[in-house]
Amino acid sequence: MSVKTDYKSLANRLLTIYSKQVFQKSMKGAKAKVARPYSESDRRFLLNIIGLANITDSYKEAGDLDKVLDTIDLAKIYSGVEKREQESDKKKSKDGIELGYEDFLVLELLHYFKHDFFKWITIPECSNCKNGSENVDSIGIEGPPINNPDEITRIEKYRCKTCQKSIDFPRINSPTKLLQTREGRCGEWVNCFMLILRAVLGADAGIRYVWNFEDHVWCEYYSSALSRWVHIDPCEAVFDEPNLYCENWGKKMSWVIGINDSYMIDLSEKYITSIEKRIPKTNTVSNVQYIKDVLHKINCDKLLKYYFEYIDPTSSNESEKLMSLYNKVILIHNREKLELNGSKSRIDMPSSTITTKGRQTGGTEWTKARGEDG
Ligand SMILES: [Zn+2]
Repeated sequence: MSVKTDYKSLANRLLTIYSKQVFQKSMKGAKAKVARPYSESDRRFLLNIIGLANITDSYKEAGDLDKVLDTIDLAKIYSGVEKREQESDKKKSKDGIELGYEDFLVLELLHYFKHDFFKWITIPECSNCKNGSENVDSIGIEGPPINNPDEITRIEKYRCKTCQKSIDFPRINSPTKLLQTREGRCGEWVNCFMLILRAVLGADAGIRYVWNFEDHVWCEYYSSALSRWVHIDPCEAVFDEPNLYCENWGKKMSWVIGINDSYMIDLSEKYITSIEKRIPKTNTVSNVQYIKDVLHKINCDKLLKYYFEYIDPTSSNESEKLMSLYNKVILIHNREKLELNGSKSRIDMPSSTITTKGRQTGGTEWTKARGEDG
């Protein structure tokens, strides 16, 4: 046996032991009791993040993923990917690393989704008069129906100024229903795009839902070629521009949280890229450490769930399974935490490569009211 193989097996043994320690700590963490919320704002914040903790489970059903492949124009998408691969000048990411096939696929999906598939709705128009949304008055909001297979969160009610027809805009959460309706605001866009992403990239693909406290959501996916999580905003068809919100839209933010199959992570340092755009976290919650403790507890639960559900439940080889847990989750999570800690000292990132200023989806008044007009 060579010295090299010896070192490799020693390294694997150490990593297996480390992985086991992380697993056992998670067992303890999952059982530990968390204190009650300190304030009403903490409670409301927690309701949000606890509600999102397992959101990526909504993009898993084999039948739903088949529906995606039956609905989207795969021939068009793959031909677009081929064209992108041939444009040699666009083959690298901004950090100079060659993009892989998966990255081209995501770029093409973003383009297809925005330009051929989904429609933005700020205010719906009257289907009789088709006079545009200026001809429609908002008249209130209704709760979801009792029988609610489309997972409607609320119904926005409008009335046409010309023919008095009442218009409902149900805010739908079910990603498969959205494959049919193909319209909405960022919540609908992201929900539907996440399902498409999982269907096209494959069941094992790392996909992430990103939630911002100041009313926006977007996505990320784990790029094997770039070895990192990559920002994507389906509403704007923007790829790998985490400074989009602060520097391009001029959006002020407090919390940005990412949720994937195996962990939840505070991504505020990645997306709040300028000091002037930072809203102190204490403006939104009374006890930041408490929120972090709850996130930790959620992550203990998620790690165990991932281990039992995703890492070959039929195998009895514990060392192999722990190594797999290390490579698929612990290593990536640790690396990401390190990078985020490193970015705390950073003041401003280089300016966005996107030349437009301000948000592209939504009308001028709407984006201005949200402080996202650049
Ligand atoms: Zn009308």
